[in-house]
Amino acid sequence: MQTAQRIIQQYRRKRVLVCVTVALLTLILTLGIRFISQRNLNQQRTVAFTAHSVNALDKVLMPLQAGQHDLQKLVGLPCSDAQLMLRKKAASLQTVRSIVLVKDGLLYCSSIFGSRDVPLRLVQPSLPSTDDKLVLSTDKSLLKGSPVLILWNPVSDDGESGVMQIVNIDLITRMMLEPQRPLITDVSLTVGDKYLRYGQNVSDTMTTGDDSAILRQTSRHFPFAITVSGPGASEQALVYLPTQLPLALMLSLLLGYVAWLATASRMSFTWEINLGIAAREFELFCQPLLNARTQQCVGVEILLRWNNPRQGWISPDVFIPLAEEHNLIVPLTRYVINETVKQIGYFPKTPAFHIGINVAATHFRHSVLIHDLNRYWFSQHPAQQLIVELTERDALLDVDYRIVRELHRQGVKLAIDDFGTGNSALSWLEKLRPDVLKIDKSFTTAIGTDAVNSTVTDIIIALGQRLNIELVAEGVETQEQARYLRHHGVSILQGFLYARPMPLKDFPRWLAESASPPAKRNGHILPIMP
Ligand code: C2E
Ligand code: CA
Ligand code: CA
Repeated sequence: MQTAQRIIQQYRRKRVLVCVTVALLTLILTLGIRFISQRNLNQQRTVAFTAHSVNALDKVLMPLQAGQHDLQKLVGLPCSDAQLMLRKKAASLQTVRSIVLVKDGLLYCSSIFGSRDVPLRLVQPSLPSTDDKLVLSTDKSLLKGSPVLILWNPVSDDGESGVMQIVNIDLITRMMLEPQRPLITDVSLTVGDKYLRYGQNVSDTMTTGDDSAILRQTSRHFPFAITVSGPGASEQALVYLPTQLPLALMLSLLLGYVAWLATASRMSFTWEINLGIAAREFELFCQPLLNARTQQCVGVEILLRWNNPRQGWISPDVFIPLAEEHNLIVPLTRYVINETVKQIGYFPKTPAFHIGINVAATHFRHSVLIHDLNRYWFSQHPAQQLIVELTERDALLDVDYRIVRELHRQGVKLAIDDFGTGNSALSWLEKLRPDVLKIDKSFTTAIGTDAVNSTVTDIIIALGQRLNIELVAEGVETQEQARYLRHHGVSILQGFLYARPMPLKDFPRWLAESASPPAKRNGHILPIMP
């Protein structure tokens, strides 16, 4: 059997476990949510940044594309006739550095230098070309070394003649390709097989930093792409996570505390007792009381047993004190009274048969006991004599004597349980006027072994006789004890010698067997009369 302390500790441990789990889950969940939202934000930022860069370059190139038809008409005209138009056009497009006309592979007219005569292949090896082309290159004439984009539009089928618009992208790429640390550590522009990174020259190979590419977006209008590198949305979100720790910790502690408060009533032994009452897990047992002289069963004491499906059998010595402590003894006793009445058919239907029910002193307050007896006991009119056993360890002095008088008036007998173990003055015996004194089993056990306690037993017996109170001896285990008590005038005996507490349904069989001749009795040996 478990001790009350152990059971309470079990519940406390369970409660702590639940609260710690709640706190940990909150912590994990908060950090998880913060991580996911930050990762999504990083992803959105990266996508927005890349899209913005692609758009920016598209916007630069689109007017060039739109105006190409006017320029194509100029190819073939003498440079002296075409140059003014070229200059005007170049001036109207802010980003265009120069516009060049090419005839039969020869660069023959430039908006800046006027008439020229240079084979285009010498300046741009990838041009001329039969298709429209975008070329990333480096300026070789004016601002040497600065990056330029060349938009080539052929006018002849052989691709040897056409218009070349040279765009100064130095400034715009500086803005477009500037990394956004810590999320975006590197941005590059790719056109064909050429690359341009922020702060670097146009190169043939893509050189990125330590971080790998996380996003690449191509333009829908022109053949270029923007590639963004960085530690990644998730990695960056992880780095950011420690900053969220104080908030997450506070939240988890708060919820852990709320869980502690919320489980106060649910995860306690008292909750378990409530549950046990509701689920009718408590079972009634009874222990017979015998007339010391005739050996006839004169009644029973009702004793509670709890087969808790979660904890196993729990002793009344564990749950009764706890029920008393947590104000649950009243509902528990109410349950006992109600169940006893329901199963009253197991007992002989005569007023000579006594049914003892253990009642705590607190139940005497404010007439609650009277109310409960009226409701559950007297309403059913049982024939048997009800005895209310009041334990001396309870605060007997708190008992309202008017209620005791009312009980007497209704024909209920009052027994003082565990008599001799409490520390109250004898004066209340006078006031309470009990009908029965139940001598505690420690005094019965002392008979023949413990001289001091045996003397107390003798005094209690004498007291009972003097005050004309019926005496019941509890815990009779040996024939020697039974003989001694009988000789000294104790009229009723109760103990393992006669019967252990048994389920109520077993009582009729026990009664039948105990009433039959000793030879037929099944295991119950009754003391031989002296
Ligand atoms: P109690 O009222 O003094 O009940 C007698 C206890 O002594 C019972 O223990 C019974 O099994 C035990 N007993 C009877 N004969 C012998 C014997 O010969 N030897 C020994 N060693 N023990 C014997 P149980 O059933 O474990 O109950 C323990 C206590 O729990 C009871 O003591 C009573 O104070 C309380 N209790 C039990 N049922 C109820 C109940 O329905 N209501 C209340 N308020 N208390 C109850
Ligand atoms: Ca009792
Ligand atoms: Ca007792």
